[in-house]
Amino acid sequence: MQRSRSVTVAKVYERLFTRWPDAERLARARIDSIVAVIRPLGLTSRAAKLRDLAKAIVQFGDVPDSLDGLLALPGVGPYAAGATLAVAFNKQAAVVDGVTARVYRRYFGLASDAPAVGDEELWSLVRKITPRRSTKEWNWAVLDLAATVCLPKVPRCSTCPLQAGCALSRARS
Ligand code: SF4
Repeated sequence: MQRSRSVTVAKVYERLFTRWPDAERLARARIDSIVAVIRPLGLTSRAAKLRDLAKAIVQFGDVPDSLDGLLALPGVGPYAAGATLAVAFNKQAAVVDGVTARVYRRYFGLASDAPAVGDEELWSLVRKITPRRSTKEWNWAVLDLAATVCLPKVPRCSTCPLQAGCALSRARS
């Protein structure tokens, strides 16, 4: 989603799940067949990883519903694990990528622009404030805010529901 348009991602997602509707079938797929389906995303090197992931899920028996279980799968990092817990299992989980990091960093006044994945201070703050209930909706709301209000170059603070508590907005006024 960081590199491709959402409409392209949606098409690839549909083709992938139509062709291999479960992990068992994806685990038996040919690498070049997976490459052909995911090519529009420009991530063809991930084809082998996707198949490895499917094999690991088959071996485990299902998609794990714990952070440690998800992180043990090949190719799954903190973002994918957190997003899976929040969206698929409706569990409390921090979900931070380059886009949501922008909102959280501005709100909390964190100066860093390092990649979100290794920023433990940021992850720790997001873990603390992510609610136990409606985690999925919380994360979607932060993504929507980043896409429509807290824009990369010029944030629209005057229309932002977080303005009163936002460190960046306070610093700019
Ligand atoms: S107040 Fe401004 S900088 Fe802060 S989160 Fe909202 S849009 Fe972003």
